[in-house]
Amino acid sequence: MQRFVNKKYSNMKAVPNKNFGTLKKKENSSEGNSEGSGFGKLVFGTVAGNGYNTNGMSFEEAYRIFKELGGTKNWKAKEIDKKSKEEQAKKDNPPAEKKESKREEHTKSIEKHLSGKGATSEQTQAIMKAIGKISDEAVSKLNAGFDNIGKFNLKGYSGYTRMDSIYINLESTRSLDKQRGYDCAFETLTHETGHAYDYRVGISKDLSVIESARKSRDELLNNLAKEGGLSNGIKNPDRIQRAEREAIWEGLKKVINGDLEEPQMPTRSQFGFVDDPYINFSSVANKTKEEYIKNQRNSWEYYYANEEKRSQLDEKYALRYDMTTTAYKEAKKKFEQAEQSGANKIALEKYLKADEIYKKEYREYNAQKSSRGIISDFLGCSTEGKFDVVNRGYSGHSAGYTKGKSTYGLKFGGAFYPTGASAQGEFWAEFYQSKLMGETETLELTKRLMPSIYNKMEEYYNKIGE
Ligand SMILES: [Zn+2]
Repeated sequence: MQRFVNKKYSNMKAVPNKNFGTLKKKENSSEGNSEGSGFGKLVFGTVAGNGYNTNGMSFEEAYRIFKELGGTKNWKAKEIDKKSKEEQAKKDNPPAEKKESKREEHTKSIEKHLSGKGATSEQTQAIMKAIGKISDEAVSKLNAGFDNIGKFNLKGYSGYTRMDSIYINLESTRSLDKQRGYDCAFETLTHETGHAYDYRVGISKDLSVIESARKSRDELLNNLAKEGGLSNGIKNPDRIQRAEREAIWEGLKKVINGDLEEPQMPTRSQFGFVDDPYINFSSVANKTKEEYIKNQRNSWEYYYANEEKRSQLDEKYALRYDMTTTAYKEAKKKFEQAEQSGANKIALEKYLKADEIYKKEYREYNAQKSSRGIISDFLGCSTEGKFDVVNRGYSGHSAGYTKGKSTYGLKFGGAFYPTGASAQGEFWAEFYQSKLMGETETLELTKRLMPSIYNKMEEYYNKIGE
């Protein structure tokens, strides 16, 4: 599965981001507040009197020492405990009104961005509905992300970013979207918004990010090998041995699939359904044997077969044609019997039920692979496709993309090349997407498997919109 082809080229100039930079100073709710009060004086006085340096000490800290020193009367301690608990609760849960208005503010801004940058009213509606499902923090981070988009192109190709413009088809929902109840291509939208933000801010060009990505390639290879049964991990990440390779694949399967097994597609015959031979052999009807065989040879299987295999196939085709004459009548009779007796109806019902379960399980299976794409994609990208994850059915980029080749065959860099296709650039986009969609389990797993880049990216994430 080729996904999210992010076509960013090396010769493009980064635009400084107006929303990025200085960290807002955090308001401190309690520090100093109590210091001037009579009780505060008592606390600080007692602590200082016991030889502690109270310069710059917070009240909480002073009070903790004060309590340890046994200088509180019980009723006072209770009062203070209550007060600090209330303050903590206020910090954890700002008043609902305030929270709502902030969220509302961001939501309105998102809506404005969408209509101002080319979304139709239906598309805007679908996205707004999706936004109703994400956390307050996610709404604010998405709004800040949208601030950094030059242009939305919300139809056409499935999803890529060119400089600060994103090109996606909002109708092309993926399994993860469906599984999480989004009616639009929300996974792709958040992913590409992440790329556009990176373009403005220059995350994947940050040398310390590149360094942590390099480090995390080794962390991931090592941890996956361990998951796959090599308790000591790998010897040299630049020279992976055959057994190590096997273990890494095994480990990847384990961390991506978790407890999920790949569901098997049910077939109608599995439940005893007898097919109408006319439908099955319709390609035979009204054709001479030669015409039929000629037609059947028109397949990839035949094209790639050697001489021996081809003659076997010809025999098979001839046999199948014969069924139109002799076995066809028999098959037709069996079908009619099954229809009349009601056996087919029962079999079909069973099959449809199994098919429904299969579809549900398959969607879950696919959604999980998609959610955990941050891991498989990083494995593919950081090894320049030496682990061709897409070929194995995992979510990620094709080996060609991970080698840094553009559509025109130009090679503009390797796995961590700062301005081309880069492992850290993809990690960031997946990270931003997973954070917004609230993919907590995936994020925890990622942090465990590659802490260096995870922590680095979290620093960047925390700064968004501040
Ligand atoms: Zn991408």
